[in-house]
Amino acid sequence: MDKVRTFTLPKLPYDYNALAPYISEEQLKLHHDKHHQKYVNDANTLFASIDETMKSEAQIDYWVKFGYVKALSKELSFNVGGHMLHTIFWENMAPTNKGGGGQPNGAIADVINKEFGSFNNFKKMFSAAATSTEGSGWAALAMHPCIERPVIVQIEKHNINLMPNFQILLAIDVWEHAYYVDYKNERPKFVEAFWSIVNWDKVNQNLALVK
Ligand code: MN
Repeated sequence: MDKVRTFTLPKLPYDYNALAPYISEEQLKLHHDKHHQKYVNDANTLFASIDETMKSEAQIDYWVKFGYVKALSKELSFNVGGHMLHTIFWENMAPTNKGGGGQPNGAIADVINKEFGSFNNFKKMFSAAATSTEGSGWAALAMHPCIERPVIVQIEKHNINLMPNFQILLAIDVWEHAYYVDYKNERPKFVEAFWSIVNWDKVNQNLALVK
């Protein structure tokens, strides 16, 4: 029962300048230290307000009466989703001199070839999902242990279109805050650059957990 009941911003597994020129130091620092931190903070604030409310039946009645339970659920889904997706995203990238980019290898290469015919086909489909996400969102490759097939998921915001128990193997953040410093409005350029820093070893580790 001594488990920590709040989230913490994870440290990046590389230096802030390590993904340049694909993601600049300024862009990465802003994204990690400000944007990701805010999802962590907001999720923790929501949990704190739950803890506080649970102490008082009058407060619970107030929340129920004024529709706060519904609002809380939505806010929590958004902020926890944001925290979780960013955590996956940082880890599924690596500097080019530390294994980032190139062709997929090992089991994930087999899975991609089997499902999409080739890495090139997969890349086209995944890039299309990433570039066509309306507003703010993500593209992800996910897999469910029961059907062992990879599915490209286009996530809106941080929490829409996610499917329960599909585990995310690879994700790209295509919110403007992820690329605006480096690429301005040109999201396709950021998506293309992403392929140069994908950490396929980490994707393979994620795949090994889907069993
Ligand atoms: Mn982001």
